[in-house]
Amino acid sequence: MNNTADNLFGLVFTNRFTRDLPADTQIDNVRRHVTGACFSRVMPTRATTPQLVVYSTEVAEMLGIDDEQAETPAFAHLVTGNLITPDMDPYAMCYGGHQFGNWAGQLGDGRAIALGEVLTTDNGHQTLQLKGSGPTPYSRRGDGYAVMRSSVREFLCSEAMFHLGVPTTRALSLTLTGDQVMRDMFYDGNPADELGAVVCRVSPSFVRFGNFELFASRDELDQLAQLVSWTIRTDFPDLVEGDDDQPLDVVTDWFAEIVRTTAEMIVEWMRIGFVHGVMNTDNMSILGLTIDYGPYGWLEGFDPDWTPNTTDAEARRYRYGNQPSMAHWNLVQLANAIAPLYGHNVEPLQEALDSYADEFGNGWNAMMAERLGFIGFAGDDDNALFGELGRVLQIVETDMTIFHRNLAQVDVENAEDLSDYDLVQPVADAWYAQPTARVVEEMSEWLRAWADRCGVDGRSTEERKLAMDAVNPKYVLRNWMAQLAIDKVDQGDFSAVNQLLDVLRYPYDEQPEHEVEFFTKRPEWARERAGCSMLSCSS
Ligand code: AMP
Ligand code: MG
Repeated sequence: MNNTADNLFGLVFTNRFTRDLPADTQIDNVRRHVTGACFSRVMPTRATTPQLVVYSTEVAEMLGIDDEQAETPAFAHLVTGNLITPDMDPYAMCYGGHQFGNWAGQLGDGRAIALGEVLTTDNGHQTLQLKGSGPTPYSRRGDGYAVMRSSVREFLCSEAMFHLGVPTTRALSLTLTGDQVMRDMFYDGNPADELGAVVCRVSPSFVRFGNFELFASRDELDQLAQLVSWTIRTDFPDLVEGDDDQPLDVVTDWFAEIVRTTAEMIVEWMRIGFVHGVMNTDNMSILGLTIDYGPYGWLEGFDPDWTPNTTDAEARRYRYGNQPSMAHWNLVQLANAIAPLYGHNVEPLQEALDSYADEFGNGWNAMMAERLGFIGFAGDDDNALFGELGRVLQIVETDMTIFHRNLAQVDVENAEDLSDYDLVQPVADAWYAQPTARVVEEMSEWLRAWADRCGVDGRSTEERKLAMDAVNPKYVLRNWMAQLAIDKVDQGDFSAVNQLLDVLRYPYDEQPEHEVEFFTKRPEWARERAGCSMLSCSS
C-alpha cells in the first residue's frame, strides 16, 4: 500500500467543483445564509471510533481501492472524514429547493460534506461525499448527523438500484461512527439515542435542480450562468462547443438532455416499483440519477396511490403513480430557474420542456412491452392491455414483483385450453389474499388476452422468458428486508447487511438458495411495523 500524506490508497483528487466555482468567503462553520456562492468549505466532525459495516467492492474497485485496503482502519477513517489529506478540499454545497410544492429557500448540504472529486481507474471523475459527518453552514435546525437505520437503507438501496440497472448515485461504504445521535423517530416527543453512521456516497456530480433555483431566486444571474456553463462543460462534454460560456442553443440541448434522462429514470422507477418518497427539487439530480434515499419504499401490493412517506401521507404528492407528473413539475421549476438566461425568448426552453410527455410516454410504452415479453410496443391495443393489467392487479392485493417475475411461467401456448384455475397458477403466489372466483376469472381473461398478443410476436417460450427475466427482477429491497438487517446491525451483527448486498447484486438471477427468504411477499408482521411500510423523514 502506497500511502503518502496526500495520496491515500492512490486516490488522485481533482476537485474541479471547488477549483472553478465561486466559494463562500466566510470560513467558520456557523449556520447562515450564503449568497453568491456554490459552496462553503467545511471540515467533517471527527468520528470517535469508526467501524466499517459494509462496503461496495465494485465502487471501491472503480476508485482503485482493493479489498485488502478497504478492510484497513485507514479506510474506515477516510470514509467517516477522520482522515483529511492536503489534496482534499472538503465542502458543503449551497442549493435551495421546492419542498412538497412550496419554495423553501436555501437548503444546502446540511449533513453531507464532500471530500472532493477523484479520478477513477477508467479516467472518469467521481465525487466522494460523506452523509452524516457533522454540521455545516447549511444545517439549519438539524444536527448534521445521520443514524444507522437510515444509512443502512441508503447504502443498500443505492447499490440495489445500480444492480437493477437504474441510474443512481452509488455508495462506497457504511460506517458506524461510534457516536450516539438523538432522534425522535415517531415525532411523538420521545427522542432516543441511536447509533450514528456515515455513508460515503459517490457520484459524478451532486448538483441538483435546486442549485440553479437558488441563484435564480436571488437574482444572482452571473453565478447562475457560470454554474450552467460549468455543468455543461464538466458533466455534458458531448454538448460542448469550446471553452467559453455556452451559447443558448447548447443550454437548450442541455436542458433537453436533462428532460430525457429524468424521464428515463422515472420509467425505471416505475418498472421496478420504486417510490422515492421525497421528490423535492433539492433531491433531483442534474444527471438524472436517483439521489437522496430517505423515506423511499418499494411497492409490494400493486397500488398506484401508495407512498411510504408518513410526512406525505395526506396529500400523497409523491405516491407511486404520481412520480411521472412530479418529475415534470420539477423540470418546470428548473426551466423557470434558467429562463432568465433566455431573456424574452423562452420558446426553445418551452419546447424542450414539452418533450417530456413523449420522452416519458415512449419510454413507458417500450418498458411495459418489454416487461410483458413483447418484441416491441405495438400501439393502442398494447396500451389497452397495460391499462387493463393495472386494473386487474388491484382487484385483490397483488405483489407486483412476484406477479411480473412469474408471468413468464404462464403457459402461453395452452392458454385457451387450460382451466382458469390452472392458467393462473404461476401467478397465484402474488396474491396476498385467497382469490375469489371473480379474481381468478378476471386474471384468466387478462392472461388469455396477453397470451394472444404474445402469439403475434411468435417468440418461443424460452426466448420470451429470457427476455422477461432480464427486466422483471426477482429480488428487490423490500422495506422489511432492510429493517431485518438494521435490527441485526443494532445487535452488532453485520452479516445480514452483507448478505442482502450479495443477493441484490444479482437481482435478475434465480438464486434458488435465497428464494424462500427473499423472493417472498411482505410477511404480516411487517404490514404495520415502523420502517417496514411507512417511514418518516426523521433520520
Ligand atoms: P432531505 O429531505 O433529506 O433531502 O433533506 C432536506 C434538507 O434538510 C437538506 O438541506 C438536508 O441537508 C437537510 N437535513 C436533513 N437532515 C438533516 C440533519 N440531521 N442535519 C442537518 N440538516 C439536515
Ligand atoms: Mg436532500
